[in-house]
Amino acid sequence: MSFSAFGDDMAGKGFERNRKQLANKPVKLARFMKFSKPKERKFGANLHRCRKCGKTSGVTVKYGLYYCRQCFREEAEKLGFRKYS
Ligand SMILES: [Zn+2]
Repeated sequence: MSFSAFGDDMAGKGFERNRKQLANKPVKLARFMKFSKPKERKFGANLHRCRKCGKTSGVTVKYGLYYCRQCFREEAEKLGFRKYS
């Protein structure tokens, strides 16, 4: 089934898992989608997700990074950042 309201990466992991469990139960799935789908956000801390791990906290949006602080630490050298101290 298609789920085009927002990309899979925008949905929480728990939500994705629960939705897959209901794939063959259309009535229950409809109810689940009505009441349990994540809110579509226009602003707020939960709007941006880390592109690597999907976390919503500590995400750097500036310069189009979209990495959380933990993943940025791992990926920074590959992106061309250098440590001077
Ligand atoms: Zn991350």
